[in-house]
Amino acid sequence: MSQGYNTVLLTGEDAVNQAVSLLQQGECVALPTETVYGLAADASNPDAVDKIFTAKGRPKNHPLIVHIPDVSHLTRWAVDIPETAYALAAQFWPGPLTLLLKKAPHVDSCVTGGLDTIALRVPAHPLFLAVLTGLDGGLAAPSANRYKQLSPTIAEQVTRGLDGRIAAVLEGGACDHGLESTILDLVSEQPRVLRAGPISQQQLSDALGCKVELPVQHVEVVPGNVKAHYQPTTPAKLLSTEQLLAQAPELASGNSYFLVWSEQGQKQLETKHTKVQWRVMPTTAAEFGQQLYVTLYQIDQLGAAQIIIEQPPQGDEWRAVNDRLSRATS
Ligand code: AMP
Ligand code: MG
Repeated sequence: MSQGYNTVLLTGEDAVNQAVSLLQQGECVALPTETVYGLAADASNPDAVDKIFTAKGRPKNHPLIVHIPDVSHLTRWAVDIPETAYALAAQFWPGPLTLLLKKAPHVDSCVTGGLDTIALRVPAHPLFLAVLTGLDGGLAAPSANRYKQLSPTIAEQVTRGLDGRIAAVLEGGACDHGLESTILDLVSEQPRVLRAGPISQQQLSDALGCKVELPVQHVEVVPGNVKAHYQPTTPAKLLSTEQLLAQAPELASGNSYFLVWSEQGQKQLETKHTKVQWRVMPTTAAEFGQQLYVTLYQIDQLGAAQIIIEQPPQGDEWRAVNDRLSRATS
């Protein structure tokens, strides 16, 4: 159901000013970040934040990440901030690392899903930073997609999901990382990753000089961290390279779309099945992640019966990709 907006695509020189002005009026604007497009609203305005939940169809108890222009804004939103937060901010901000801290008493519970913690980060995208600087405030911004759907990494994908439901989309090209930020809990006794992302567990433990706990896959630590998430509308299935080689002949006959990365996988599809639809994914984790959502989004438009994805390698740098893939195929 549309919310009755005439959603505007903001481009050109005045785009940032227009975005700032709409946000000051309490509207939602989709903004590019270096991870995925975010659906932003003034985090100090509960009515504006409420519009995020309505536009996305997101349950009200799912907490939002608040984006701030620089580290000096931390104290406006959080209390009892540990030194580790400043050390990590110095190394990784602006960037795809979200820190979970104790929330300041004045922060409205609609932002934090009723929790006494708050998730904060400084994003690296120049347009998002320009908007934040223009506002001199915080923007709550979950991914700019309908609840449970794929996070958008291009403006067209935002419009496809939210046209008529939000005031505007700020055009910012394709997102650099293509996967959501790493979320690090600094409130628990031992720092722990709540969501794997572009900043790896190894980078965090190197920076902190201590052990950082790993995410337990699919454990619902908070509402919003759910097992089935980031899903294309076409049913998707994850197969190991061995399973792919064994099952490809049968699967190929059923209007499947294949995403493969290994040479064996490619050879299997090339030689045996001339009519099969398939695409080769990159062999580095960063590039695979950058292309994952947009690739799934594009395949969704093609009407395949299912998407068969060759499971990428395991290991620390592939953790975020594998996490999203297991949720997409859950
Ligand atoms: P999204 O903005 O859609 O990328 O999702 C934001 C995610 O951040 C939520 O789904 C939670 O998993 C996490 N998050 C945000 N705030 C908190 C919080 N206060 N405590 C724990 N997790 C949080
Ligand atoms: Mg999301």
